[in-house]
Order: sequence, then C-alpha cells, then structure tokens
Amino acid sequence: MKIGVLAVQGAAREHILCLSRLGVEAVPVLRPADLAGLSGLILPGGESTAQWRLLSRAGLLGPLQEALKEGLPAFGTCAGLILLAREITNWPERYFGVLDVVVERNATGRQVDSFEAEVKVEGLGEVPAVFIRAPAIRAVGPKVEVLGRYDGEPVLVRQSSILGATFHPELTEDLRLHEFFLNLCGKG
Ligand code: GLN
Repeated sequence: MKIGVLAVQGAAREHILCLSRLGVEAVPVLRPADLAGLSGLILPGGESTAQWRLLSRAGLLGPLQEALKEGLPAFGTCAGLILLAREITNWPERYFGVLDVVVERNATGRQVDSFEAEVKVEGLGEVPAVFIRAPAIRAVGPKVEVLGRYDGEPVLVRQSSILGATFHPELTEDLRLHEFFLNLCGKG
C-alpha cells in the first residue's frame, strides 16, 4: 500500500515518519504525477491559505479535486481539515469542500495557541493530540460521524473514507489514528 502526503508546506515529514513506522510506503506529493497509484492521501497541518496557493502553483488543484471526487481516501489534519471542509465560517474561500463539515479557523476551545490534550476517540479510548492554532468544527452534515471529542466539541470526524482532525496526531508517539486511516484506505 502506498500513501501520499501533500508536501508543499507544513508537517508532511512527520506524517511520512508515522506511516513508515507502520511499515507503509509513504511518498511526498509535490506534483500531479505523485498521485499515481496512491491508496490514500494525507493533507497535513500548516497554513491552509499558503498550502492552497502552492498547490495551485504546482498544478495540483484539478488532479486532487478529481482524485477526491473519485473517492481517494483522505486524512486532513488541522490545515488539511480546513482544505477538505465544505464551509469555513470566517474565511471567504472554500477549498476542496468534500467533507461535509463547517469549520472556523484558528478557534479551538478557549485557547487560540498551542496545547496538548487527550482526545476521547470512539473505539480507541484516549488519544494524545497537539492543537496548534486549530480550527473548530462548528457543524457536521448527516453523513459525518463524530469519532472524537475534546471538551465536548467534535475534533475528529469521518465521512466514508475521509477523516478529519482539528489537531496534529503526527506530533505524538501514538500511531493509532494513522493505523485507523490505513484501515479506511484498505477498504478502498
Ligand atoms: N491556522 C492554520 C490555518 O488556518 C491551521 C493550523 C495548523 O494546521 N496547525 O490554516
């Protein structure tokens, strides 16, 4: 199984390391040809606006939109979740829009800056999470399952084979969410 990690900006390297530790081939995605033969795609955290601009410059927007439309499993973390979301409350643009959630940028909980916390995840128990200027999930559509909450608010969601987290799982030693995503990729 080969998993791609968008690598134009942000925490790509850490995701690649997590996948490698799980024994999976992980490739950085920098150009359209890198999408060939992928079983899944991770959209890392970073800065969504910068990522979008760089994806556009790399000619990746069309090919990515197409791949997502065709059902390529995807895992968006933090900025990656913002790129997948249907709507962003405090931003005029909408990006790929394939995950039926409404997000607010730079908004998690009572703190705007970074913090670590345990997130309660369905079926997995407590999972460590790093929040860095994280988005908040303000609403989820009928096909979206809330898998994880922090402080009562949704922070991990799934719609079919699309997974979204408001936090950075790749900055902890815990590989369970990557493993969970790989299972979604296996089911294709
Ligand atoms: N604040 C960033 C954004 O709006 C996301 C932060 C992150 O990915 N850690 O894109």
